[in-house]
Amino acid sequence: METTEIYAALGIDPRVTRFGERVLASLRERFDGIDAAAEYNQAKVLEAMRKNRVNAQCFAQTTGYGYNDTGRDVLERVYADTFRTEAALVRPQITCGTHALALALSANLRPGDELLSPVGAPYDTLEEVIGIRPSPCSLAEYGVTYRQADLLPDGSFDYDAIRAAITDKTRLVTIQRSKGYTTRPSFSVAQIGELIAFCKRVKPDVLCMVDNCYGEFVEPVEPSDVGADMIVGSLIKNPGGGLAPTGGYIAGTAACVERCAYRLSAPGLGQEVGANLGQLPAMFQGFFLAPTVTAGALKGAVFAANLYERLGFRCVPDASEPRHDIIQAVELGSPERMLAFCLGIQAAAPVDSYVTPVPWAMPGYDAEVVMAAGAFVQGSSIELSADGPIREPYAVYFQGGLTWYHAKTGILMSLQKLYERGLIDAAALDE
Ligand SMILES: *Cc1c(COP(=O)(O)O)cnc(C)c1O
Repeated sequence: METTEIYAALGIDPRVTRFGERVLASLRERFDGIDAAAEYNQAKVLEAMRKNRVNAQCFAQTTGYGYNDTGRDVLERVYADTFRTEAALVRPQITCGTHALALALSANLRPGDELLSPVGAPYDTLEEVIGIRPSPCSLAEYGVTYRQADLLPDGSFDYDAIRAAITDKTRLVTIQRSKGYTTRPSFSVAQIGELIAFCKRVKPDVLCMVDNCYGEFVEPVEPSDVGADMIVGSLIKNPGGGLAPTGGYIAGTAACVERCAYRLSAPGLGQEVGANLGQLPAMFQGFFLAPTVTAGALKGAVFAANLYERLGFRCVPDASEPRHDIIQAVELGSPERMLAFCLGIQAAAPVDSYVTPVPWAMPGYDAEVVMAAGAFVQGSSIELSADGPIREPYAVYFQGGLTWYHAKTGILMSLQKLYERGLIDAAALDE
């Protein structure tokens, strides 16, 4: 059976498949670059696991207080060594990325301190954490103020505005690596390094935290290699490798991470408590697979950008730009196209393939959000998924894929749904 036939059996028109193959033929060099980064990162993780003598005891379940949890402690050393930090907090008790970020912020900011975002508005869910949108228990409620320096129109850092925004009160600078639900560019680790160096020149004792969500293992270096005091992320994104069932991490200086541990459990208890509840095998193995899984997701993102750009849709990043995270935004220009795209991603999922995604008012977001995800781990966005708020410019944010082949199938299926509904210029498929 030909490849087009196996895809036809899944419901993808040979015209769509052949278009995909032509796009793919132009991407070999890009894919080689992605593989090279994955190889480097795989070696980094392996070295950390060897150095810390990971063994079968590390996979034992603990319950209750979780005192003397060797596996948990070793996993945290593996993260710290991979990210080249002094310490790391990696826990199933950190419920998601927002929780990890809220923890890192609330642990390291005290009343009277000011938080600065030098990269414009933070991720939607952080608005309530910070108190930009009022919420009980926000940082604002506890007397932590917030300032923001917006990016310049071309997406670069506004250094004059940042310098002006750093005051005696500025305690912590938060830098979001990935674009999130906006169409600004994501930042390279080198750019983040320059920004951190600038902030520390203006105020040497300021702490720099990087929201590393979706960025892990995309490049051979991480923000912690270029001066970040803390990097923070979710285990149902890149570093969980698709296997970690839940959790978050904070890696950074011993001083910052210790405060996070005190905030997560209790002052005085810190990292000494926290039962692993049997999650460690998946957390170790997921981290081991994460560089390869991330590479598959990156290939999917590059493929999607090249495919949709040829059909006339604006893609961020565009077809040829270097990648700094696994997210691909495709501006589809209408709610109908967003729904068709998401329906295709859903239809290509190994789990819940028969489900129709519908928009809903998700907690933490100010517009309705449509989400497609047929994932083994609920809500996992290192697994193939697409989502986006139903608002201008009607962009879907596409990410993940535990394997490149699955990402490819999902993207072809998304195009199939647009094609079937007459939502694309079909003649372009044969060009
Ligand atoms: C996903 C994400 C978050 C929040 O993570 P959740 O796990 O959804 O709470 C924060 N920042 C960025 C850039 C993200 O991509």
